[in-house]
Amino acid sequence: MYDFHIHSDFSMDCKYSMEDMVLEGVRKNMRSLCFTDHIEFQVTEKKIDIAFRTKDYFRKTNQIKYKYLKDIEILAGVEIGMQPHLGEQYNSFINEEPFDFVIMSIHSVKNRDIFFDGFLDKKKPVEAVLEYYKDILKCVKNFDNYDVLGHIDLIDRYFKNFSLIPETKKYIDLVKSIFKIVISSGKGIELNTSGIRYGLKYYHPKIELLKLYKKLGGEIITIGSDAHEPNFVGYDYKKAEKLLRDLGYKYIFIFKDRKKFPIRIS
Ligand SMILES: [Zn+2]
Ligand SMILES: [Zn+2]
Repeated sequence: MYDFHIHSDFSMDCKYSMEDMVLEGVRKNMRSLCFTDHIEFQVTEKKIDIAFRTKDYFRKTNQIKYKYLKDIEILAGVEIGMQPHLGEQYNSFINEEPFDFVIMSIHSVKNRDIFFDGFLDKKKPVEAVLEYYKDILKCVKNFDNYDVLGHIDLIDRYFKNFSLIPETKKYIDLVKSIFKIVISSGKGIELNTSGIRYGLKYYHPKIELLKLYKKLGGEIITIGSDAHEPNFVGYDYKKAEKLLRDLGYKYIFIFKDRKKFPIRIS
């Protein structure tokens, strides 16, 4: 099992140490864990940067890596909170650091965090969702210094009432354009198993979108739990892998030193 999306107390929304998370991975007999702590540039209307100190981050990941070398492989990635105008700022940040893996996620639209700043409030669901995917499209057009696009239909989980989530056909053309760019630029997507934990009936992305990605020729896909607590490390990994196999995927991918490696789905 390879969990390529977990957090530690280097993220503002996680209070568990790297070691807490790693011990759980060892207990679950996992092969690799990749920490992907948050970097969020220019969030909220005040445009605050929320970031960990990379020196401390790499010191800690290296220390844990060697301490548990015999038990589990530990990698150091990052989850960047992208907005269309932040490409250059993230480029210079990423190029300075020896990350193994970069997830590009969209958590904010127009400097408003979808959750914390109530992006969905007072908006028609379809309009909000279209605005969100249009922004993702701009991000993939403007920026390619990432490995996978994170939890693409994340916005669904923030509807207070899930019956308001627009039908996929209302925005699928935008997702198609996004996937085409992701695929042609040699990048991937992730299957993020956290959706179910937020009460949705699916992972991110939902099955229709996993099928679409495959149909368009998409092959590069990682599996991540998005665990913010040890309990959820490796969450639903086997089920997620089976789902991908049932949909015709032959490999999942892992990343080291920003290079991808296919792992055949058993
Ligand atoms: Zn995220
Ligand atoms: Zn995350």
